[in-house]
Amino acid sequence: MEALPLDEKINDLKVVLKVEDFQQLLDALIRRDYQVVGPTLKEGAVVYDSLTRVSQLPAGWTDEQQAGHYSLKKRSDQAYFGYGVGPQSWKKFLFPPRITLWKQKSPGEAPEPAELPQDAPRYAFLGVRACELKAITLQDQVFLTGPFIDPIYQARREKVFIVAVNCGQAGANCFCASVGSGPQVTQGYDLALTEVTAAPEAYFLVEVGSQAGQTLLNEVTHRPATGKEVAEARQVVERAASEMSKSLATADLKDFLYTNYENPYWAEVAGRCLACANCTLVCPTCFCTSPEDVSDLTGQVTEHRRRWDSCFSLDFSYLHGGSVRPSRQSRYRQWLTHKLGTWQDQFGEIGCVGCGRCITWCPVGIDLTTEIRALRQAAATLTAGTETNPKSDER
Ligand code: SF4
Ligand code: SF4
Repeated sequence: MEALPLDEKINDLKVVLKVEDFQQLLDALIRRDYQVVGPTLKEGAVVYDSLTRVSQLPAGWTDEQQAGHYSLKKRSDQAYFGYGVGPQSWKKFLFPPRITLWKQKSPGEAPEPAELPQDAPRYAFLGVRACELKAITLQDQVFLTGPFIDPIYQARREKVFIVAVNCGQAGANCFCASVGSGPQVTQGYDLALTEVTAAPEAYFLVEVGSQAGQTLLNEVTHRPATGKEVAEARQVVERAASEMSKSLATADLKDFLYTNYENPYWAEVAGRCLACANCTLVCPTCFCTSPEDVSDLTGQVTEHRRRWDSCFSLDFSYLHGGSVRPSRQSRYRQWLTHKLGTWQDQFGEIGCVGCGRCITWCPVGIDLTTEIRALRQAAATLTAGTETNPKSDER
């Protein structure tokens, strides 16, 4: 695949942060009362968790991803960000998997909101990749535009400080380059790092994306970058783009999906799909939820909660006495057609950022890029069959 043309902004990167001064960045964030959240190793994966020390980062580790496969392995260097995206995304902090919306402490009392905007956590995200930044902007469209603003998301989002990281390698399931969301971060961050691990000395090239980023950087030891260092950083991102072997052709996708609602290939995918919902839960852009009302054992305290749900769950499509999507075929079709087709009608673009999580974490290795290609092939075969046998439409 042709490497992405790099945004000219990378030429503006002129600040070098030495690896031995990296802790100063975390210290400056913590001094500002940010809860720093970043990548760390847990239960055999790179996950996002609270950090106070750079020693908690997955230095020297990388991952191996295939369809339905994820494992960690050692790197030959001590790169802090030398891994692909893991099972979690930042949405778990801005749009929590389970949250209490309001609580009523006793019958007759007015319900109280469980999280007031002023109480929202003040997160600093460390290590946000380009596809993940794009996913956050897609969720911004869902929660912050239109007639209904989500106050919980809004309060958390307004406070967040973002330290992005350009990708230096592409995972086997990444296809961000083909959907235009990576691997270079271009906007939406306060600071952006490019980690250069080449000899003689590893360093971060830093780009400033906001006034808050500039102010924070002033508290961290740094120096202007040389032309050679800027060129080395450029090569890091170019390498990631050129390594990407998967792609998704998006040009006519919406119309293709709309005209292939009855394509028999949907039944073939459904024969493999377990309807487990993993793909939707790991997806950084999926946003379906279900409400729950619970009370304590005395019946005095009541809570109204919201939890992530999925279009793969039978109950999610339960309406007036039955599910409107009773078959796996209809649920898989709904997911893919929304993600890549009707999302465009809702928000003007596709709802996929090419992170590859749904491919890695699908227990049976269903790969949406492969399925779209197979659907196109099935449609072409049907069309060819219809043309050679004009009576094939007759039933
Ligand atoms: S659909 Fe899959 S590849 Fe696209 S954003 Fe969601 S998890 Fe990532
Ligand atoms: S496509 Fe894979 S991850 Fe998604 S519901 Fe089906 S089996 Fe589960």
